[in-house]
Amino acid sequence: MLDYHLHLWPHSQSDAEATIEQVAAYCEHAVSHGVTEIALTEHLFRFTQASDLLGEFWNDLPGEALRPGMAAYWDRHARVDLDSYVEVVQAVKAEGLPVVLGLEVDYYQDRMDEVAGLLNGYPFDVLLGSVHWLGAWRFDVLNEPLVMAEWETRDVDAVWDEYTRAMEELGASGACDVFAHPDLVKIAGKVPAVPDEFYDRMAEAAAVSGMAAELSSAGWRKPVGEEYPAPPLLQRFVARGVPLTTASDAHTLPDVADRADDMRMVLSAAGVTKLQGFRNRQPHPVAVSPIDAELTVAEPGA
Ligand SMILES: [Zn+2]
Ligand SMILES: [Zn+2]
Repeated sequence: MLDYHLHLWPHSQSDAEATIEQVAAYCEHAVSHGVTEIALTEHLFRFTQASDLLGEFWNDLPGEALRPGMAAYWDRHARVDLDSYVEVVQAVKAEGLPVVLGLEVDYYQDRMDEVAGLLNGYPFDVLLGSVHWLGAWRFDVLNEPLVMAEWETRDVDAVWDEYTRAMEELGASGACDVFAHPDLVKIAGKVPAVPDEFYDRMAEAAAVSGMAAELSSAGWRKPVGEEYPAPPLLQRFVARGVPLTTASDAHTLPDVADRADDMRMVLSAAGVTKLQGFRNRQPHPVAVSPIDAELTVAEPGA
């Protein structure tokens, strides 16, 4: 098993700094929970290099009333130096611990070439691609009243359509390797009566882009109470041959490798035996569960 989606800091923490001890502790916790390799994938918007590059990009996007919220969000988050994050993760990797260097990259409409230009200057192993924002609407920040007011007034099918279009454009940009939490748009629990068209398009976006998709336990910790992706979307990924990673999307140590065993069962039910790992942004196969095999052997009475 992998845990290919990990953050070092909760969103409530503004100033932050990566340390070798913290990354090593993540590795230790993951291994003790049956995960063989982790990827550190801090948000791109944590880093001053991202705000230098992208400026106040939200001013070009729809949602005027939501722009101040986005500005405050960036001001709170974009405080860390990307070079020191990279150096710390690379140092732990060089010690032989099971970690690879990644980043969670957002979809920036019409700006992905610039984003790719920035990221090409670093030795990333894997880049997650995420859609967190539709225009200036941070639809997954559920504790903000303005965000939730949008959920109350917008048409659910239209929201899913806009989200899916962003995924299609993110895939076509070629900037990232893995679709993170592929159906994040369901986070607030609002799902179209017939979501099939959107699932078909999401699976198509992954298949034609060559990107992998993430199976994430984070959805179990959200109001929707369901893993990402939903079972019918996972089925479509599998049917289209889209490679998979597994992920907790932890923002603190105790959530690292969260519910890895439950994800193992989801994969088993879907007939998935191989995951996809990455080095230098090149994919390689990883067995779902060498741990299971050991446990089976270790139970002579069973
Ligand atoms: Zn995310
Ligand atoms: Zn994340």
